[in-house]
Amino acid sequence: MEDTNRREELKDFFLGIKNCLECELSGTRTKLVFGSGNAFAEVMFVGEAPGKNEDLQGLPFVGRAGKILDDLLGSIEMDRKQVFIANVLKCRPPGNRDPKLEEINTCKSYLFKQIDIINPKLICTLGRYSTQLLLETTEGISGLRGKTFNIGGRTILPINHPAAALYAPSRMEILEKDFQRIKEIMDSGSRSGNNSKVAPKIEPSDFEEAKGKIEEEQLGLF
Ligand code: SF4
Repeated sequence: MEDTNRREELKDFFLGIKNCLECELSGTRTKLVFGSGNAFAEVMFVGEAPGKNEDLQGLPFVGRAGKILDDLLGSIEMDRKQVFIANVLKCRPPGNRDPKLEEINTCKSYLFKQIDIINPKLICTLGRYSTQLLLETTEGISGLRGKTFNIGGRTILPINHPAAALYAPSRMEILEKDFQRIKEIMDSGSRSGNNSKVAPKIEPSDFEEAKGKIEEEQLGLF
């Protein structure tokens, strides 16, 4: 795919699924959380599912876990404009319950399509659900965390979910270490290739056609 088409393709994809009714979560969500970030990102983060604030705002990783993610990105001199952040499920499970297998199986093709469009070099899976989905394993996150896997020419790095640090501050040290690993991987040469580290920002005019149909902030493309 031509780089110049990635934002357009992501935007079209968002418009195509934003009213998805494919699973029961469509009946309880406020907003579908597509994901946000850089369509040209070399690094993609995949979490579990939207929480309460994400559901209300239509954006991934807002609130306290989002602040931790921002701080961790900052610790390796990166920010959200350089990465893409998505979840396994695009809609919030009521009461933040765990995703059901049938929901994951119904929704996963959307994540796979996002990965296909963005074509990141490195995918950091945040926590159990995204790790097990992308590595096609039932092994727990504790045995996989910090190891790298090559799947389809991409590097997969499972790490803990940033929310883990909210409940166990000692996990923050592990997260910081794992983010240094992200930096090492990206500095080791995988930044070469057809993705640019800092892509040009999306221009307001890019949204002209979709104005009135989508909420710009929900797409959150850079
Ligand atoms: S969770 Fe996924 S499959 Fe279910 S309604 Fe939302 S977008 Fe559709």
